[in-house]
Amino acid sequence: MSGRKKKKAPYKIEVGPFTFTVQETADLPIENAVGVLDPLAHAIYVRPDLSAELAAVTKLHEYIHAVEASFGLEGLSEQTVDTLAAGLTQILLGRGFDPRDF
Ligand SMILES: [Zn+2]
Repeated sequence: MSGRKKKKAPYKIEVGPFTFTVQETADLPIENAVGVLDPLAHAIYVRPDLSAELAAVTKLHEYIHAVEASFGLEGLSEQTVDTLAAGLTQILLGRGFDPRDF
């Protein structure tokens, strides 16, 4: 299930005491990134042109950063975050979750 998809409307997630807005945008604040967490704006930005699977793993990656930022876990390496996101994505896809719903 790959390929381009329709841009999703922004939505909100609750993480600890914070509400993060998750938004697809082609205009990410970091060049060449596929996803970005802005902890001060409580916002997660994801590129709109990703395959469903890459969007799913990217969202989980940024959700983990949101947990990290919200619960004082700052300092996880990008490799740790990538590994957690990839592992959780595999588990959830294997359980039949639609990657577009991540
Ligand atoms: Zn990261």
